[in-house]
Amino acid sequence: MRTTVRQKKAECTGCGACVSVCPKAAITMKADEEGFLYPSVDPALCISCDLCEKKCPVGQPHEPHDQKVIGAQNKDADLRRGSSSGGVFTALAKSMIAQGGVVFGAAFDEEMRVEHIGAFDEADLALMRGSKYVQSDSSEAIAHAKALLERGIPVLFSGTPCQIDGLLACVKPQHQERLLTVDFVCHGVPSPGVFASYLRELEAKYGSRVTGYTFRDKRFGWKNFAAVATFADGQEHIGTQLEEPYLRGFLKNLYLRPSCTQCHDLRGDRRRADITMADLWGAQEACPHMDNDTGLSLLMINTPKGRKAMDACARELTVFPMRTEKLLRFNPSIEKTAAVHEKRAAFFAGFAKNGFETEAVEKLLAGPGRVERMIRRIAHLPKGAMRRLRALLARVRG
Ligand SMILES: Cc1cc2nc3c(=O)[nH]c(=O)nc-3n(C[C@H](O)[C@H](O)[C@H](O)COP(=O)(O)OP(=O)(O)OC[C@H]3O[C@@H](n4cnc5c(N)ncnc54)[C@H](O)[C@@H]3O)c2cc1C
Ligand code: SF4
Ligand code: SF4
Repeated sequence: MRTTVRQKKAECTGCGACVSVCPKAAITMKADEEGFLYPSVDPALCISCDLCEKKCPVGQPHEPHDQKVIGAQNKDADLRRGSSSGGVFTALAKSMIAQGGVVFGAAFDEEMRVEHIGAFDEADLALMRGSKYVQSDSSEAIAHAKALLERGIPVLFSGTPCQIDGLLACVKPQHQERLLTVDFVCHGVPSPGVFASYLRELEAKYGSRVTGYTFRDKRFGWKNFAAVATFADGQEHIGTQLEEPYLRGFLKNLYLRPSCTQCHDLRGDRRRADITMADLWGAQEACPHMDNDTGLSLLMINTPKGRKAMDACARELTVFPMRTEKLLRFNPSIEKTAAVHEKRAAFFAGFAKNGFETEAVEKLLAGPGRVERMIRRIAHLPKGAMRRLRALLARVRG
C-alpha cells in the first residue's frame, strides 16, 4: 500500500490529477510544513492499482508546437484595468460562455484561499480576473472539468502549465475535443501557507480582517504594478512591486514551490496548452507604438484549436505581430525556470517558528552587507593573491 504518489517529493507540482483518477477516493491534498499541498494516500483505502502514478504527468515527453506569436490587447479599457496584462483571458472566457461552455480559473474564496472554480456566466469571470501570486488548489476543478467533458459540455480550463499538464493527463483523448486549455508563462507559485501567514500579519497591523487582495493593481501603471489589500473596515494597504514584502519575496523566488525550478519541459514551444498568455514585458522597446501602460498581452498560439478560439473572440481584441526573441531579456520565464533563492531554507526555518515576518523577509532580501561582500571577494581571489594577502596580514600583525 502506498502513502504517497511520487517518490521524489520535489518533482510533484501539486496539480491534483492523481486525486481525480483514484477509483477509491484514497488521495487527498494536504499541506506540508512549507504550506504547499501534496497528495497523501490513505493506505486503508488504496488497492495498489497504481493509476495515480501512471497518470501523473511529471516526466511525460512533450512534443514541440509550431507556435504563432502575437501581441494583443482587449479593446475594453475597464476590463483591461481589472486584468493583469492585456485582458485576453476574459475575451476567450466570454466566447466559451457564449457557446454554452464552462470556464475554470483561479479565484479567492471567503477565507482568502485561492482555488480553481467553474464559471457558468460572465458575472463569475470577475472572480478569476487578475493573477494571484499563490498556488491555486486545482484538484477538485480537474475532477469537475473531466466530468463535464465526459457529458459533452465544452470547457475552457485556465491555469499554470503544470495544472494543464495534469488535466490533459486524466481527460481521455476522445473527451478532449471540446476542451480549450489556456496556460501562461509561469514564473512559479508561492506557498499558500506563506500567503495566509502574510495576511495574518497585515490583519494584526491594521486591526481588521482582509477581505480582498489584488496582486496587479494598475493605479500607478501596468509596468509599475502594486499589491492592494482591502480590509473589512474600509482601510487599504498599498505597496508597489518594489515595496511590498510579499511581492518582493515572490519575484526573488524566496518561497516558490520546489517543482517550479524543474519544469523545463513546460516552457518555450513544449507547452501543452492550446494558448499561452503572458505580459508583453519589453513593450517599450518591442512595440512602443502600442504601449500606453494600461496592459498588453503576449500570446503564443500553440494548436489549431487555439487559433480557432482566437478567431472566435477577434472582434474584442486589437492584435499585432510579435516575436519572442526580443522579449526574453525582459521575460526570462518564457524559456527558463526560476533559480532557487540562496536563502530559501533560511526563510522556511524562520517561517516554521514565527510565520511570515516582514522584518525577517526584508533582511533576507537585502543584498550582502560590506563585510559579507568583502569576504566573498576574498574567497574568489586567485591562489597567488591569497598567498600575498596572508603574507601581508602576517607582516601587519608583526
Ligand atoms: C503565479 C503566476 C506567475 C506568472 N508569471 C508570469 C511571468 O513570469 N511572465 C509573464 O509574462 N506572465 C506571467 N504570469 C501571467 C500573467 O500575469 C497574466 O496572468 C496573463 O498574462 C493573463 O493576463 P490577462 O490580462 O489576459 O488575464 P487576467 O484577467 O489577468 O487572467 C488571469 C488568469 O490567470 C489565472 N490565474 C490567476 N492566478 C492563478 C493561479 N494562482 N494559478 C493558476 N491560474 C491563475 C486565472 O484563472 C485567469 O485565467 C503569471 C501568472 C501567475 C498567476
Ligand atoms: S499527479 Fe500532480 S499532484 Fe499528483 S503526484 Fe503527480 S504532480 Fe503531484
Ligand atoms: S513554475 Fe512550473 S511547476 Fe511551478 S507552477 Fe509554474 S508550471 Fe507549475
